[in-house]
Amino acid sequence: MNQPLTYTGGLAATNAYLLDLGGHLIAIDAPEGFLDFLKKKKIKPHSLFLTHGHWDHIWDAADIAEWAGCPVYYHPDTAFLCLEPDAMLSFGLPQKLRPVQATQLLDETTPLPSSWSQARLLHVPGHCPGSLCLYLPESDQLFGGDVLFEDAVGRWDLPGGSRDLLLRGIREKILPLPQKTVVYPGHGPTTTVGREKTSNPFLL
Ligand SMILES: [Zn+2]
Ligand SMILES: [Zn+2]
Repeated sequence: MNQPLTYTGGLAATNAYLLDLGGHLIAIDAPEGFLDFLKKKKIKPHSLFLTHGHWDHIWDAADIAEWAGCPVYYHPDTAFLCLEPDAMLSFGLPQKLRPVQATQLLDETTPLPSSWSQARLLHVPGHCPGSLCLYLPESDQLFGGDVLFEDAVGRWDLPGGSRDLLLRGIREKILPLPQKTVVYPGHGPTTTVGREKTSNPFLL
């Protein structure tokens, strides 16, 4: 399996990943400190994909895009947070952040960049309206952002959140994936679809 490089950092211990798809490097999310991590490793991603717009996932996004000169991708419903991150000063954002423009907005049905090989997107709102999961069927990997965690799901009490939408999206779009699919979450350790299907208390 193509193991992604993992970075964990920032006030919320947020996971970012660097995925190599046949030489095309996709950075997934941009917590505080991810830019320095990439600079130290001398890795310039070719794409920056944001699973959703919460501040702990977009902290370094504008700086990474500028430094790497790479396109930025997120869902249309993520734009309001990425373009006006100050809106999050009312829920946890400790300081002002630079807005980050999308080079292209992506949804489940948007054709993806050809260099992303077999990747598919799953739109699973409820934690955040524009939450996208990046699914790689050939390698059984799901980069889920803050949708599904080991023994937990994303919180639904932030603006635009919905418990019903979140649980329905997980049940309809994630649980039917192959059981061995490895879930790389926005926080905490990796898990699998099969494990969460059988033991996640929110999904029983
Ligand atoms: Zn979040
Ligand atoms: Zn988060």
